[in-house]
Amino acid sequence: MFGFMLTEEEKRLAEEVRDFVKQVPRQMLLDMDENRVHYPKEFIKEAAARRLLGLRFPPEYGGRGLGWTQEVVALEEVGVLGMALGCLYSLVSIVGEAVNVFGTPDQKERFLLPTVRGELGCAEALTEPRGGSDFFGATTVARREGGNYYLRGQKRFIVGAEGADYFLVYARTNPEAPPHKGISAFLVERGPGVKVEYLYGLMGTRGGGAGRVVFQDAQVPVENLVGQENGAAAIFYQMMIPERMTSAAGAIGLARAALEVAAAYSTKRKAFGQKIKEFQGVSFKVADSLTRLDAARSLVYVTARAVDAGVDGGTARRLVSESKKFATQAAWDVVNDAMQIMGGIGYTSVYPVEKYLRDARLALIWTGTNEIMNLIIQHEYYRSLQAQEAEKAAAFRDVEQDAAAAGDREEKVYE
Ligand SMILES: Cc1cc2nc3c(=O)[nH]c(=O)nc-3n(C[C@H](O)[C@H](O)[C@H](O)COP(=O)(O)OP(=O)(O)OC[C@H]3O[C@@H](n4cnc5c(N)ncnc54)[C@H](O)[C@@H]3O)c2cc1C
Repeated sequence: MFGFMLTEEEKRLAEEVRDFVKQVPRQMLLDMDENRVHYPKEFIKEAAARRLLGLRFPPEYGGRGLGWTQEVVALEEVGVLGMALGCLYSLVSIVGEAVNVFGTPDQKERFLLPTVRGELGCAEALTEPRGGSDFFGATTVARREGGNYYLRGQKRFIVGAEGADYFLVYARTNPEAPPHKGISAFLVERGPGVKVEYLYGLMGTRGGGAGRVVFQDAQVPVENLVGQENGAAAIFYQMMIPERMTSAAGAIGLARAALEVAAAYSTKRKAFGQKIKEFQGVSFKVADSLTRLDAARSLVYVTARAVDAGVDGGTARRLVSESKKFATQAAWDVVNDAMQIMGGIGYTSVYPVEKYLRDARLALIWTGTNEIMNLIIQHEYYRSLQAQEAEKAAAFRDVEQDAAAAGDREEKVYE
């Protein structure tokens, strides 16, 4: 972490989280990885007891009223526990964001407060078997009858399918409307009509209870509609901030842990009569890894500060997507190099690097694949380019005219 960039308060928070992370039982991590534990409620309860969940939410709902910057400081520390616990920790921030920003006072009392206190476990149900990237193509439907909605459809890969008490579910409420204007978000409690039909065998990130959840005319009272009917696009965009920032910051923590293990090993392990860190092939990997992590951290911190400062939606979306893409790719490269530094023993369960590698691979895929991040980054950039064209013409040097033959208009052919 960048201690020198943090305020005293942020440094104290990092210490507090490190203290929490230290006491997490090793056996819990092993049991999760062996699929002996599917949803470690005691982890959530302990984090809540230390008031470390939902840091950004107002104190009346159990939070500390902190900002995004403080949250990424905390997440980097939690990240060293691996992606499954990082995810369970983050879900409070992700689902909580929807309720905190768009929910009614009653929803905040019934859902946000007990979630931040660790009394209720939450999950988010966006992805469907037909595809996660095309979120607005959702086919789960909610039809209203009197004071209730009835949800029908299924969601796939839902962390907390096993274990969570309620789900934030997106469903189509107006099939005639364009996708962005026909989806609503609901708080759906586990109960009749909500079934877990499949638990996935995962390469890594195990122990989060990831499964397929089927809604068979699940009855949801109108009081559990979040925000406006058909207005869930705004909720989705808002939730993607914590969704992707927590992925980014958590991945940095995970990769930091891998690098620490590998670097320590390189100071002890000998080959050809010398410590392997004396070989450039090894020490330069450490240098590259540090550079990648510091660059990722810089981008993630700047993005968090930008969102804290209230930057416009398009810029926030671009920066958040860049952070998610860059930090998760950096994490993957760092963990992969950590394994390479350690040679064969890195591939075994004698060191945790093989688990970090299995975990880190998911970061490139979930919370929006890195290809989808590219889609958003270029989209927001081109949009801002158009919007700023007139402003730019007045304020900036027209560099295109600096070419020797800039005036040869007949050569500037575009079609
Ligand atoms: C272990 C795990 C836990 C998860 N947890 C949750 C959770 O708790 N809640 C939840 O809702 N979801 C969760 N997800 C789902 C995850 O977010 C999705 O898997 C992810 O968004 C990708 O969706 P998909 O798997 O359907 O892939 P698809 O959307 O089918 O994409 C397949 C490939 O096509 C590419 N692609 C698709 N569209 C484009 C495009 N326009 N341009 C370029 N490339 C494109 C993708 O990048 C990808 O490489 C989880 C997934 C896993 C594996």
